[in-house]
Amino acid sequence: MTDTNTKNTIRHVDIYDSTLRDGAQAEAISFSLDDKLLITEKLDGLGVKYIEGGWPNHTSPKDLNFFREVGKLRLTVSKVTAFGSTRRASNRPEKDPILRTLIDADTEIVTIFGKSWDLHVEEVLRVSLDENIRLIEDSIRFLRAQGRRVFYDAEHFFDGYKARPEYALRTIQAAEEGGAEIIVLCDTNGGSIPEETASICDEVKKRIGIPFGMHCHNDAGMSAANTLIGVMHGASQVQGTINGFGERCGNDNLCTTIPNLMLKLGAECLPEGRLSGLMDISRFVSEIANESHNHRQPYVGESAFAHKGGAHVDGVLKNPRTFEHVDPELVGNQRRFLLSDQSGRATILTKLSSIYRNLDKNGPLVKAVLAELKKKEHDGYQYEAAQGSFEILAARIIEGYKPPFSFEGFRVITDRRDDGSMVSEATIKLSVDGAEEHTAAEGDGPVDALNSALRKALNRFYPSLSEVRLEDYKVRVLDSDEGTAARVRVLIESFDGVDSWGTVGVSENVIDASYIALVDSLSYKLILDMRREKQE
Ligand SMILES: [Zn+2]
Repeated sequence: MTDTNTKNTIRHVDIYDSTLRDGAQAEAISFSLDDKLLITEKLDGLGVKYIEGGWPNHTSPKDLNFFREVGKLRLTVSKVTAFGSTRRASNRPEKDPILRTLIDADTEIVTIFGKSWDLHVEEVLRVSLDENIRLIEDSIRFLRAQGRRVFYDAEHFFDGYKARPEYALRTIQAAEEGGAEIIVLCDTNGGSIPEETASICDEVKKRIGIPFGMHCHNDAGMSAANTLIGVMHGASQVQGTINGFGERCGNDNLCTTIPNLMLKLGAECLPEGRLSGLMDISRFVSEIANESHNHRQPYVGESAFAHKGGAHVDGVLKNPRTFEHVDPELVGNQRRFLLSDQSGRATILTKLSSIYRNLDKNGPLVKAVLAELKKKEHDGYQYEAAQGSFEILAARIIEGYKPPFSFEGFRVITDRRDDGSMVSEATIKLSVDGAEEHTAAEGDGPVDALNSALRKALNRFYPSLSEVRLEDYKVRVLDSDEGTAARVRVLIESFDGVDSWGTVGVSENVIDASYIALVDSLSYKLILDMRREKQE
């Protein structure tokens, strides 16, 4: 469908972000005033042209405050818009509270939505079809008379058009008549399919004299396709949200659509050089929304350029184009090679080549590392997020590495007291070069106590271990085969102020699995120290 003609005629598409309004309507997502201001600054950094600030109505003081505060930010690219609806049928425009608060928000641009679908006009608004036309036209005319630029969101336009095409077209013609600058065609229920979207856009183009834009929802998994085809059929503005946050299945995901438009259609959407900030803002908004970042989302998911299968890894090493549709760095992502049972010696070589310069892909050492890796994975280990443990495994085989201390035993006791409080105590026995150490420590929980005891015991031998902080601790119960006890896998993320590294432990006992991962974490810190010393 993308013939070179289409590609050449699309020059510029304006990006309109609705994360703060439609995005905030997603289940389990809510943004504080500070969150909204932080996201606004990030969106300006990315270079989107318009940011929908929300509803400035008085029942939602957070949003009205936002319009006061946002004026203090020095935005360089983006313009913030206020969002609302057409007036109520019972009010004259100048007396309508919704329109009044839109003026109070004091923005250059106001976006209002109105009804295009007769079903909504008659059953939800409960006004006549003609009355609805008047609401649209005079609401816009009023806002224009107050000096505002007006974007008109034609809610349910595609469904309305399918039900009653002439009426749907009359609603947007009324918006044009009232003075709207652009008509945004909304697939509000997200159920359209690209072919009908395309032909409806073609019809709209013939019937209005102003530009049109797209606002698609993803209920049929087709918002990206509908948005793209809308642009190929003439849309010059695209509305969506970061990470696709929004009602139900979400809005169109700008983190997919922006690169689609720029890299597939050659459209200009962001200022020069900003596209590589996309992954960063995607993760930032997930973080602020307190949602785990979707690893599998196109372009900006952590897995979007992660290669696992042996043949895939081999192909990408020969030429990345074999299994990558675009260069990951264009959107700020990076290529990753995953360690796994399926991956071959090529991955191992890539993972270790910076440490061991002369490893031979076909030599016995690489084969032995792969065999050990497969054995451990069979036991439930996973090294994709545990580079520290993987390097220790490889070092044992390649250079006969031994841990810096020998372990003699530990014991952990947890007490629940009268007042309901819990205290754990761990004692640990180990030796370093023949010198024995026996220590005890308390902690909030058994793993915390064990961690403290282990560090206390090792501290006089290796003071640099005090720099290590545990950043993350994850436990996963592994499926058990019939007849065996379930095993748990513990993943620990550590950081020493310079580097961070992951380690892993597997056992039938969660404390033991934690202990294995902790020992790897501290051992890897000492390996890192040694490497840094060598470099100096
Ligand atoms: Zn919407």
